[in-house]
Amino acid sequence: LQDKAEMSSRLAAVGEMAAGIAHEINNPLTGVIGFSELLLERPGIPDDIKEELTIINVGSQRVKEIVRRMLTFARQAKPVKSAVSIEELLEITLELRSYVLKTANIEVIRDYAPDLPWVMADAGQLQQVFLNLIVNAEYAMKKAHDTGVLTVKTAHPDGYIRISITDDGSGMTDEVKSKLFQPFFTTKEPGEGTGLGLSLSLGIINEHGGSIRVESKPGTGTTFFIELPVTQLDTIPQAKPESVHSEQVM
Ligand code: ADP
Repeated sequence: LQDKAEMSSRLAAVGEMAAGIAHEINNPLTGVIGFSELLLERPGIPDDIKEELTIINVGSQRVKEIVRRMLTFARQAKPVKSAVSIEELLEITLELRSYVLKTANIEVIRDYAPDLPWVMADAGQLQQVFLNLIVNAEYAMKKAHDTGVLTVKTAHPDGYIRISITDDGSGMTDEVKSKLFQPFFTTKEPGEGTGLGLSLSLGIINEHGGSIRVESKPGTGTTFFIELPVTQLDTIPQAKPESVHSEQVM
């Protein structure tokens, strides 16, 4: 992270490799998924074999999802920007996770700044970032204890919007902290993490002209800070702010 240029070229190299691997995996994978589905639909299949086929199907669907994420990562898609309400995006993301948060006894504290300015951003990409951070926070809290507190905060110091996502989970050692934005770095069990979430998030936030950093302490918890510039709002026609808001949201 200290050397942004080096990190970018590393990301690009890994991106190319990821694209190559993804294409190689996709063809045989389509066969595995397709035939496991065909077999599952065949009449008279005994229950125990059905169960095993389901494991093959679910596993291969998971590989497909990982490949999809690798390709997204490899493409490093340019953001398609529109006027976005950060608070609304955070709420949509929390809603997506509400079931998991509830069953994990995680309390969500919202601390939203009033009158947060809108930002020019790619809503889908930003939501991907928030989702990554929230899923990681859930994981760290589940690992640490049976309950948890997730705090989602917004602020707008001069020229910026700052979003912070805090968990009281396991926290990280300095070693993990120094590596966490590297592609494929994960401390999760094989099959649980791809190690792509944060490197993807870093790429997205960089493309938006923003920054992302972390504060974390083992046993205490973690806060991710994202800063996004609001200066790009100048590009919204000042004469018709209302029509811009109603037409360009997501
Ligand atoms: P993945 O979640 O697939 O491992 P990420 O890039 O999202 O990939 O995260 C990389 C690593 O960073 C995680 O495996 C974990 O060790 C660490 N990490 C990320 N977020 C947190 C958090 N909120 N608390 C503790 N550790 C975290």
